[in-house]
Amino acid sequence: MKTNEATHGSNENPVSAAEKARARKVYVLLEREYPGARPALNFGSPFELLVATILSTQCTDARVNMITPGLFKKYPSPDSFMSADRAELEKHVKSTGFYRQKAKALINASRSLVEKFSGEVPHTMEELLTLDGVGRKTANVLLGNAFGIPGIAVDTHVSRLAQRLGFSQESGPEKIERDLSLLFRKEYWTGLCHLLMAHGRKVCSARIPKCGMCVVGGLCPSAFKLSASSKSKQKKGM
Ligand code: SF4
Repeated sequence: MKTNEATHGSNENPVSAAEKARARKVYVLLEREYPGARPALNFGSPFELLVATILSTQCTDARVNMITPGLFKKYPSPDSFMSADRAELEKHVKSTGFYRQKAKALINASRSLVEKFSGEVPHTMEELLTLDGVGRKTANVLLGNAFGIPGIAVDTHVSRLAQRLGFSQESGPEKIERDLSLLFRKEYWTGLCHLLMAHGRKVCSARIPKCGMCVVGGLCPSAFKLSASSKSKQKKGM
């Protein structure tokens, strides 16, 4: 990507030209650092991505990837999830946490797919939000990664990085999504999320960000501020 492509033109929204220029540079540096960044969840179809994303709530993608091969073997389609024995499905997804709610959501969402969408995962935000267990984050993951429709999926990494990098002063995911959508051009939304997630996992971790090895440290308003305060809190046993 060229450095002048990722953000909006100057007259299209209220974000300042300087902020857009800084955001462009951050994008380019992260893209260079994480070439080919992609979703961490393994999936072979939109339906598998839907199931995996529902299971990833409050759980690591690595943990979800451990159980989905066996899960998809036993329940290969919305029909099979819809007819699953709830208690048995709960056992299969137990290790991902919140297993009762997740099993219920998987059964209900699968029933909706079969009864309202001919067994296919729908392609619009509005339709996706009608499925049990699907909020804006999951819907955006589906749009961006299963259908190639730009979406900003605000998970814990995207939320934290957007705040630390000064892309958003907000804490709610919908407002962060809006701020990022004003800062970056639509065609970069899905890629931006992959880059922020990769950087959040590898360098800008929740507890102690590794600012000393961060490629965007020179552009980040939080550089070395958070790591210092985290270390001091740790020393004090806070
Ligand atoms: S400089 Fe530090 S706080 Fe800023 S993005 Fe990099 S690791 Fe995160």
